[in-house]
Amino acid sequence: MMSKITVGVLALQGAFYEHLQLLRKAADLLASASSQEVSQWDFIEVRTKAQLDACDALILPGGESTTISLVAARSNLLEPLRDFVKLHRKPTWGTCAGLILLAESANRTKKGGQELIGGIDVRVNRNHFGRQTESFQAPIDLPFLQDGAKSLPFNGVFIRAPVVEKILPHQKGIQTEEDQRAETVVAPSREVVDAAAQKALEDEVEVLAKLPGRAARLVANSGVNIDAEKEAGDIIAVKQGNVFGTSFHPELTDDPRIHLWWLRQVQDAFSKRNGIAA
Ligand code: GLN
Repeated sequence: MMSKITVGVLALQGAFYEHLQLLRKAADLLASASSQEVSQWDFIEVRTKAQLDACDALILPGGESTTISLVAARSNLLEPLRDFVKLHRKPTWGTCAGLILLAESANRTKKGGQELIGGIDVRVNRNHFGRQTESFQAPIDLPFLQDGAKSLPFNGVFIRAPVVEKILPHQKGIQTEEDQRAETVVAPSREVVDAAAQKALEDEVEVLAKLPGRAARLVANSGVNIDAEKEAGDIIAVKQGNVFGTSFHPELTDDPRIHLWWLRQVQDAFSKRNGIAA
């Protein structure tokens, strides 16, 4: 039986159109790479709860996380988004601002100024690279894309990007310790309602990629003296169960490799959820 999988891209602000383009490209590649019957994909823009309810998986694009969360709150989408990610644990991927929204804790954020969706037990540091290097591109090594042979580096586009600065302990409820910190917001807790969500509580945060060499660059560029040992690399891609986040913007390149990898993950999750043998 051919399954139809609906993937939404939250289209309130930011680079949602670019994600849709790459999703289509990745789906074509997936179809041509497989000799078996493949899934049928439907890619949609999500602005309402009804559209979200139709989705099996979701992308939160890069943009401005404060604006996205504000518009989501005004559109009565914040709670449905939390249900989607944290209750039902449907596959979700956030890029840049999207990663911030998926974090359980984010700093450099005024309390009351921004709401998080949550879903990944990490603290992100917003605008991590500071003013001077607000935006840059760097070739990054993404081991999770490797399919046997070492893959070519990915062009990482970083625009006022966050990084994951701390992996937080598993917490069933709210991250109370985080909540004590100044300029830090935490995501509200969620009760677990179904078996998938219960299972997801066991998922650990996996670090999928780091950006090395920041220390070396800083020293070379500005003579800043920092301890290179302690700067083992900034965490720029994480995954906890079905929830995936990247600091950079694959949607601003024309390289569909991460979208292709993610669609495979979505397909697996869909098969498991629906009891279809993969
Ligand atoms: N710095 C932005 C924020 O806080 C994220 C930037 C981006 O998505 N390019 O939302």
